[in-house]
Amino acid sequence: MAKRTDSMTTYDVIVVGGGHAGCEAATAAARLGAKTLLLTHRPDTIGAMSCNPAIGGLAKGHLVREIDALDGLMGRAIDRAGIQFRVLNRSKGPAVRGPRAQADRRLYARAITALLAEQPNLEVRAGACADIALDQTGVAGLVTEAGTTLQTGRVVLTTGTFLGGVIHIGAERVVAGRVGEAPSLPLAATLRRLGFTVGRLKTGTPPRLARAGIAWDRLEQQPGDDPPEPFSFMTRRIAQAQVPCHITRTTSATHDLIRANLARTAVYGGFMAGRGPRYCPSIEDKVVRFGERPSHQIFLEPEGLDDDTIYPNGISTSLPRELQAAMLHTIPGLENAVMKRPGYAIEYDYVDPRELFPSLETRRVPGLYFAGQINGTTGYEEAAAQGLMAGLNAALAAGGRDPVIVDRADAYIGVLIDDLVTRGTDEPYRMFTSRAEYRLILRADNADQRLTPKGLALGCITASRAAVFEKKMTALTDARLLTGRLTMTPDAARRVGLGVNQDGVRRSAFDLLARDDIGWDRLAVLWPELREVRADVADQIVTEARYKGYLQRMEADVQGYRRDESLGLPADLDYGRLAGLSAEVREKLTRVRPATLGAAARIPGVTPAAVAALLGQVRRRAA
Ligand code: FAD
Repeated sequence: MAKRTDSMTTYDVIVVGGGHAGCEAATAAARLGAKTLLLTHRPDTIGAMSCNPAIGGLAKGHLVREIDALDGLMGRAIDRAGIQFRVLNRSKGPAVRGPRAQADRRLYARAITALLAEQPNLEVRAGACADIALDQTGVAGLVTEAGTTLQTGRVVLTTGTFLGGVIHIGAERVVAGRVGEAPSLPLAATLRRLGFTVGRLKTGTPPRLARAGIAWDRLEQQPGDDPPEPFSFMTRRIAQAQVPCHITRTTSATHDLIRANLARTAVYGGFMAGRGPRYCPSIEDKVVRFGERPSHQIFLEPEGLDDDTIYPNGISTSLPRELQAAMLHTIPGLENAVMKRPGYAIEYDYVDPRELFPSLETRRVPGLYFAGQINGTTGYEEAAAQGLMAGLNAALAAGGRDPVIVDRADAYIGVLIDDLVTRGTDEPYRMFTSRAEYRLILRADNADQRLTPKGLALGCITASRAAVFEKKMTALTDARLLTGRLTMTPDAARRVGLGVNQDGVRRSAFDLLARDDIGWDRLAVLWPELREVRADVADQIVTEARYKGYLQRMEADVQGYRRDESLGLPADLDYGRLAGLSAEVREKLTRVRPATLGAAARIPGVTPAAVAALLGQVRRRAA
């Protein structure tokens, strides 16, 4: 093949892959002013949802709000494309509420494509990356499968499930990145050649059904929230038509059929090896692992307003296609359902994320960044969050600036990246609220206050968002002052039916809101000026009042955490020669090369005694 160099153009950053990570990475880099190219197999698949047509959920919704707070795409796109919005866990505490929306697949892809087209400094090209060109300092460019070299000092790889991808349906085996799309084989070979530690993971998707043929009138209906709550801090109102979902369940006949045919599934038949997502298991995994359960819930989710395809959420499978149809017919309401497309399992390469710095740059090749499923994660939101950070950091490096790192007390994005780079993962990693130790601070409602100021300092926030943010902060400050200023005596409170201790101490509106039985609306009857406060600001003040004590304690914990994080470990530290460490701890520290003492302490197997020895080392070096 003839070798060509596209010497006309040099890019500050090239992002490979137009999935959820790639689109965020490319636009984030371009927002910082970097001349950016998004190179992807097929620009017509930009914004494609490989599996379920939904964004957000528990902890994932937090990630979307955080991406939005840094002016990313995902929140704005789902607000344009969402056809059912629900805040999950609404009855629970504010820390664990998760916004989720069902998407119209086509509208979502269209929204992402439109946002990319509006982005200055960004060019999108069709092409496949096969190799990375290197010079003495690191990345010098990338080589396409067509043999063209594109010049750049920074490449962000966001190749999803495409590296060495193989699809399995029963014993059928197709080499593919996702259904109907070719995998990325030369690039998979490149990463091995460069010496990266590569593993195999797997995931799966359910069959798709035709709307006609489902007995809708026999199924439980699940409506969305009314009014729907937007994801983006920039969206005032959801304009899209909203539709309900429906619920059905597997039966003992479904489970009997699966048990009788386990050996014919790709996974239990031994046709594939990689580890699957523990928290999003296939229906055969559920039947094996939770044998005592008589049934499993299935959500029937429309894939779009003008699309007759239904996504049966909860029954991803790698059974042979004829058995998938038979399985569907054992499910109430689906007895006559028509399968439009079989489900499948896919296995693919991922790189051990301990190969990465917290900036998502690889340790092995300066200028090369990884983000998304390639790092062992699962889910659109986890991918997008990493893409955003990798794109920002690649652009910052191109401009000779220091990387931006958000930590575990700043954001779920910080938790995600810290978990990956310090602990690694040997199964598809998904985010949960339980992974965040400071979750009362990291709420979905305050993501803008946690991150937009950082974005403003970096220069990645557009003027329109800056104005919206400033307005909200002013409203919040005013509301805090107002609820502190409005006070009443215990006697006055008693007279209007608010039972407080008759101790003679005046209570402010803020003090009164701390009580579960006193809400904003009730106080607004007494103090009508409270009605002027916008709803999102009022909700946040109630949370601050109700959780004041916990929030103060958590802030103290955060200070302790940040103290350990400020103790940097020298990059050239020779762990092999450090006294007081076991061979196992030495090996782990050498492999991860933690940036701080705090990160060292979070590596599984690193003991408190080892941390104390490291602390001694840091102090001796500093002296
Ligand atoms: P992707 O969205 O996969 O995008 C990768 C992009 O890179 C594509 O545009 C591709 O064309 C491009 N590309 C790849 N290689 C090259 C190259 N060499 N040159 C140029 N372009 C390239 N997640 C869940 O949370 N739950 C699930 O149940 C679930 N099930 C899934 C089932 C299936 C069958 C698949 C395929 C994925 C599933 N996922 C699931 C994962 C989810 O789709 C991904 O986590 C998410 O899409 C990852 O985003 P990404 O940006 O990393 O990669």
